[in-house]
Amino acid sequence: MKINVSYKFKRPGILTVFLLLYRVWAQVPTAPANPPADERYKTDILLIVAHPDDDSLAAPYLAKAIYDEHKHVSVIYGTRGDAGGNAVGNEQAASLGAVREIEGRRALASMGILNVWFLNAPDTPGQDVLHSLETWGHGACLEKVVRLVRLTRPEVILTWLPVYVAGENHDDHQAAGVLATEAFDLAADPVAFPEQLAAPRDRTSIGNYGEGLHPWQAKKIYYFSDATHFEFLEGRGPQYKTSEVSPAKGLSYATIATNAWMSDKSQLPPNATDLKKYLDQYLSEPVRFVLGKSLVKGNTTGDVFQGISPGPIPYRRAQGYELGVKEGMSLQLGGPWAYYREFWRAHQLEHLSQLLSPETASGGPDNTIWVPLLIHNDTDATRQVTLRSVLPPGWAEKPGPMIYTVAAHDAYPVQVNLVAAASQKGAWQRVTWTAEADGQSVGSVTLRVHVNYNGVPQ
Ligand SMILES: [Zn+2]
Repeated sequence: MKINVSYKFKRPGILTVFLLLYRVWAQVPTAPANPPADERYKTDILLIVAHPDDDSLAAPYLAKAIYDEHKHVSVIYGTRGDAGGNAVGNEQAASLGAVREIEGRRALASMGILNVWFLNAPDTPGQDVLHSLETWGHGACLEKVVRLVRLTRPEVILTWLPVYVAGENHDDHQAAGVLATEAFDLAADPVAFPEQLAAPRDRTSIGNYGEGLHPWQAKKIYYFSDATHFEFLEGRGPQYKTSEVSPAKGLSYATIATNAWMSDKSQLPPNATDLKKYLDQYLSEPVRFVLGKSLVKGNTTGDVFQGISPGPIPYRRAQGYELGVKEGMSLQLGGPWAYYREFWRAHQLEHLSQLLSPETASGGPDNTIWVPLLIHNDTDATRQVTLRSVLPPGWAEKPGPMIYTVAAHDAYPVQVNLVAAASQKGAWQRVTWTAEADGQSVGSVTLRVHVNYNGVPQ
């Protein structure tokens, strides 16, 4: 059966269509704006250091950046400096930390720096970065630093040089440099500490999870060093004269830095003559930076802000690296030296391995030097290895020449302790170790040592 149906269709007028659409549209409410990242915390420079007063080394440059280039600076201190001495009173340990926190905040506030955080890590006097990373709680501190990089969105990170040097070589300084480098590479990675990046479900309510931050890639990272010698820093980054006068303030950058530094009273010589000598020694030198890495165009010694323009840059995961395959027998420096060899490669900082041949300094009243060595056996059989040293005249070594049994595919960690000759105070000396297996040399290590630096213990 065939059914014929016919419709009489009347076209609606334009006005009718518009009114219908308007009624539908008008029933959909508009969502509230998504708040942008908090502008109050956006910074140009994030300084990541270990102790209140560490900022003083970079302060003349910071003064230039703040007053004459209108840059915003924020600071992270790893510790409160609670293991130091106190030049003012009896307050020690946690009480000294409470004192130094305020000293540090006052010093920075005098230069207009108010966004300052502490990681609450324990001040750990020593020179082995692995010791500080252990006492600080490496993972928990890294999580905090990554959070603060994402909150402050720095263009540039300034921090301590992650290299073992002859000098103060404070392990906390190095730990700050390691954490800053790791955070530089991680803060833009969406799978690193992702809970920091989760959007809160209802931000105005209480008990939210999801920290609501955004990934952030800083553009450059620069280092500065606490070595007692500077020649190796030449040509490695920009330098800033501390004697130059700030046009905005009419004072030298050294003077502005000194005025800030005066807040760190518990760490400064109480005697005026000694104080002047101390400050002159530090502030007569330029601020020397080493370019760690840059993700924008520019050259090594160009200005810190060369090539930087506002706005985010894309995240590029730091290239991975593979451990080289070791074969046969070998001898290497162990401990922090072994760690840094891989750390630099892992973070594309191989150029830091070119800064210095391995060095250290004797320290403390006994002129002692700790040297960790690793005897690698990457063969399939247990090997006997004889370790001998060539010492400068008048030096002593424990344990001295010895035969080590090294299992197949193992590395024997040898802990050497040296005592330098006091008569060589101020001189550089060299110590060489050689390893032999089956009458054949399997490697040697040479370390240069600056004698009689009375700094923190190794
Ligand atoms: Zn320090």
